[in-house]
Formats: sequence, C-alpha cells, structure tokens
Amino acid sequence: ETFHDVDMGEIIMANIGMSRYDHPTPVQKHAIPIIKSKRDLMACAQTGSGKTAAFLLPVLSQIYSEGPGEALSAAKNGGQDNGRYGRRKQYPIAMILAPTRELASQIYDEARKFAYRSRVRPCVVYGGADIGQQIRELERGCHLVVATPGRLVDMLERGKIGLDYCNFLVLDEADRMLDMGFEPQIRRIVEQDTMPPKGIRQTMMFSATFPKEIQILARDFLEDYIFLAV
Ligand code: AMP
Repeated sequence: ETFHDVDMGEIIMANIGMSRYDHPTPVQKHAIPIIKSKRDLMACAQTGSGKTAAFLLPVLSQIYSEGPGEALSAAKNGGQDNGRYGRRKQYPIAMILAPTRELASQIYDEARKFAYRSRVRPCVVYGGADIGQQIRELERGCHLVVATPGRLVDMLERGKIGLDYCNFLVLDEADRMLDMGFEPQIRRIVEQDTMPPKGIRQTMMFSATFPKEIQILARDFLEDYIFLAV
C-alpha cells in the first residue's frame, strides 16, 4: 500500500514524499478515501496511530483542489476581510479543534509540513500564550486554523475569526476535550449561527474511546457518518 492509491494532487503528494511517510498507517489507509469522498466520519483511533495525517492530508487536498479558485476565494482572497475599524477578520476554510496546546502545536507543525508550497496557510491559536501575537499571525491570512476551544471562543468574541466559510471541521481527541470540560465551548463553536450546518460542512471526529457522551456529539454534529474503528 502506498499514498498513491488516492490522488491528493501533486503538491500534497510531493510533501508526503518529503515527509518520508512511505506507507499509510491503518487509520490513514481507511480514513483518507472516506474523507476524500466527502463523507462525515467518526473514527476511533489512538494517539500514535497517525490520525493527524489521516485528516490533514485529505482536508488539505480538498482545500487545494477546490482552490486556489473556489474554496480559497470563497474565503475572500486568502481568508480575510476588512472588518470595522480596518481590523481584518479571518474566514478559515478548515477548523481543527484539539484539547491541549501541545496537541494543537503538533497538528500545526504537521499542517505546515503538508501545506508547504501550496497556497494554503495554516495558523494555530491556544490559551496561555500572547493573544496579540496570535492575532497578528491570523491577520497575515489563514485558511486552516488549529485551535483549543477556549482560545477559539475568545477569538470569535473579539471578531477576529468568522466561521461563515468553514467547510471542514475536525474534532481531534474529542473524548479528551470532553474530559477537560470543553463541551460548552465546543457547542458554542459548532452551533454558531454563522457556521455552515452539518451536511453542508464536512465534519470529522476522532476519539480514542466511544462512550455515550461522544455518541451524542456524533449524533449532533455529524450527518450520515461513517464509523471507523482501527
Ligand atoms: P499521530 O498519531 O498523528 O500523532 O502520529 C504519530 C507519529 O507517527 C507522528 O510522529 C507522525 O509523524 C508519525 N507518522 C504518521 N503517519 C506516518 C506514516 N504513514 N509513516 C511514518 N510515520 C508516520
């Protein structure tokens, strides 16, 4: 098995080559074609299974193949807009929620690696760090945001991020986010009235376990989803 079984476009394929990922892991092998086929996904996978690339690669590939035309310009030329008082509000095409600063940073590093030489610009926002610096990074334009839930709610309240064009939503380590008490923030984000509704956006949830609380989130956030356990 190779990554060439699914066409993700020249740039992404070249970046996979440079990353020295020779063979897809089981979660990558199964999740990539499902996500590329635009289905919602509930995947049970552990840390270390390669789940980060399993969602990043097909999401980046879809952003890139729908852009630099459609998806990128839908986000208003590089995902930004002149807000009131000249401040620029960012409209990312993809949003990835993760429980901790460490995990968000790891996902961001991997996104940068796979987005290299594409026009897709990733950004990361998490709590416990200078928000001004993160806002300046956002204002340089961003198509894919990796965020912890609390800091993202803060950015939404400050009018720095708009979810109107968020066509791809990933909840990574959903069980850990619930354990950490992030359900209210997650619901505020996903149930925002400007967020494209389920069935319009594509939503992917990853979780190590599948207890009742995660089943309820999956029922609420996913449309006609495929369940994958690896
Ligand atoms: P993750 O489960 O996404 O945190 O990935 C765990 C580790 O495996 C990370 O260090 C990745 O860089 C690495 N990794 C992910 N997919 C592959 C692959 N197909 N081949 C080799 N290493 C990989």
